[in-house]
Amino acid sequence: MTQSESFEYQSVQTLKGVGPAVAVKLEKLGITTIQDVLFHLPLRYEDRTRVVPIGALKSGQQVVVEGVIEHSEVRFSRKGGRWGKSKAGSGRSLLCYLSDGTGGIVLRFFYFNASQQAMLAAGQRVRCFGEVRHGANSLEMTHPEYKSLAENECLPVKDALTPVYPKTEGVHQTLLRNLAEQVLTRLNDNAVPEWLPESLRKEKSFPHLSQALKRVHNPEAGISLDSIEAVKHPAQQRLIFEELLAHRLSMLQFRQKAEKYQARPHNIKSNMLTNFVRQFGFELTAAQKKVIQEIASDLKNNVPMMRLLQGDVGSGKTAVSACAALAVLSDSNQVAIMAPTEILASQLYENFSRWFKTSKNNDACLLLTGKDKGKKRDNKLDAIRQGKVSIVVGTHALFQEDVEFDSLSLVIVDEQHRFGVHQRLSLREKGAKGGIVPHQLIMTATPIPRSLAMTAYADLDYSVIDELPVGRKKVTTVVLSDQRRNEVIERVTEACRKGEQAYWVCTLVEESEVLQCQAAEETAAQLNQDFKDLTIGLVHGRMKQEEKDAVVARFKTGEINLLVATTVIEVGVDVPNASLMVIENAERLGLSQLHQLRGRVGRGEKQSSCVLMYQSPLSERAKQRLAIIRENSSGFVIAQKDLEMRGAGEVLGTRQTGVVGMRIADVLRDEFMLDDVKQAAEQIQAQWPDSVKPLIRRWMGWSEQYGSV
Ligand code: ADP
Ligand code: MG
Repeated sequence: MTQSESFEYQSVQTLKGVGPAVAVKLEKLGITTIQDVLFHLPLRYEDRTRVVPIGALKSGQQVVVEGVIEHSEVRFSRKGGRWGKSKAGSGRSLLCYLSDGTGGIVLRFFYFNASQQAMLAAGQRVRCFGEVRHGANSLEMTHPEYKSLAENECLPVKDALTPVYPKTEGVHQTLLRNLAEQVLTRLNDNAVPEWLPESLRKEKSFPHLSQALKRVHNPEAGISLDSIEAVKHPAQQRLIFEELLAHRLSMLQFRQKAEKYQARPHNIKSNMLTNFVRQFGFELTAAQKKVIQEIASDLKNNVPMMRLLQGDVGSGKTAVSACAALAVLSDSNQVAIMAPTEILASQLYENFSRWFKTSKNNDACLLLTGKDKGKKRDNKLDAIRQGKVSIVVGTHALFQEDVEFDSLSLVIVDEQHRFGVHQRLSLREKGAKGGIVPHQLIMTATPIPRSLAMTAYADLDYSVIDELPVGRKKVTTVVLSDQRRNEVIERVTEACRKGEQAYWVCTLVEESEVLQCQAAEETAAQLNQDFKDLTIGLVHGRMKQEEKDAVVARFKTGEINLLVATTVIEVGVDVPNASLMVIENAERLGLSQLHQLRGRVGRGEKQSSCVLMYQSPLSERAKQRLAIIRENSSGFVIAQKDLEMRGAGEVLGTRQTGVVGMRIADVLRDEFMLDDVKQAAEQIQAQWPDSVKPLIRRWMGWSEQYGSV
């Protein structure tokens, strides 16, 4: 039997209930085969195995309750805050007061029709399933699932936990559950190949793959929600191990492929480096020197460097990357530098132009962004293609197909957490010419915990700048309610009048970009009114690039005292004289983002401060999060805590690209397995190389592994 005919590779369309239309929707979830259904694992579980007495309910639980509606009514309410509009339109809601003799709970419906309203009337017995929340006066369930019961009717409960699958629009949980059940009933030990070596399974007491899959989709009766959430079940442990293994194997493959490529070797001459560094106007830190040496020894080789450089905000990554560029330029090869935003790209362009200006060559450097169009762009592309420029700085625009280099030998990617694995690979392809690919240096301020480095970044070497330039003062951080906004305004004005410069950052993460820009505009207008003697600038994401650049430039020269901005200012903008930063709605931002923002100040000699303003009341969790920022200045500590609170994918901003988008594993929680996973991966590669591809395919799909490689 060939692989394509085997059970696991049969189309989902062989299952009941899947016609062409449903198949298209499932494809969006990455489900095209039977195997994909099996490995579309539950995200979590619901406990519908018992009816919980209302008197024993706690907020946050998802439970089944049963009772009699004592009273029901339609209420009108005004919802919506300063920027928000009520989701419920009219603000009309149906409230049903349910009680079971042990206590009462309110069922709240924002959407309901006349027949539902008639059914949910006083005297009706119902069974509900939903999430319990604190309401104004009592516990509530919003839009529970419900079923009416006759007076003495006795409805059975489920005997095991119910799986909840990750889903997409148009695919209902019931469909996903039904597909899983169909596949599981046809599943025997021979239906899906077991790729884990028996010795390993024995050693770890892992169940067979098909047993593990059955248990994870359908936990046995009697297993409690708590125990399954503890993720200690052998079935769970086995699948987690296999998933981590698949990721590790896929990264090893990337790496092996990379090592087959060739790159041009470059040497940095030490007197040249000394002269070059002199123009910075500062002494390199020991950490910067160490990293420059690591890069220099990579560049000497004819295999492409693949190095990740991590250094906290303000640690001086730019200067390090310039030294790397120097090596390549001295051999008259080209360097490409990529930044995530146009503001950042133009700032890097300024630095590199200044550092690489020579007597014979004033235009060694070129800036290419999305705003280059028509003739101007064509000219730039010609210059790049013909090798007339040696350094090309740009945004994503550098990825475009018609950008061709003459002799690209080094690609520097700044603030890498915005780029995914595939983008980084396609950049490498871009420079490939006659079997030669460029070296790559990837720079990020986001610390990569060991757990992630071993999975998502296993294809890269790793350097870290673990020291800030001397003389940096810690930024004093305070957390204040926005009810004290006026005091903050006073403080900012006072500072500006004394010649300092300040940022005022407006954030509205949940809302649209339009609203965020609007908020910044309003704030700027209001501050302008209050302080006629100060010059206030405004930058936000909806302004034209030229406008943004012009404002940032005026801020740099000191002409603007106070810069009102949205989070576009987040990465890399470098104005050493700015010493005060106010962040509005700080509670809405991620910790690493706050740390990045705060890193805009404290770059010069002055004692700097940062005011985190929040909208009260602040939840307990939000209070803890802001305290982490207030009390810590190390990006590494903050990122670690952020990771603990939010999970890996969000911290690295890679959830969308799927790099860390695991199905059942959680690199932080499961970190203890990583050493064994690493060992198993090497063993499988050496002894069972045929298992590698099917394992990767099973967990990561075709696209993940082979999409752009
Ligand atoms: P990041 O690592 O966040 O990209 P930058 O490269 O933008 O940091 O450097 C931040 C600031 O520190 C810049 O103004 C830069 O000129 C300065 N800087 C870099 N290295 C040193 C150093 N060794 N001593 C003093 N200042 C430095
Ligand atoms: Mg930087």
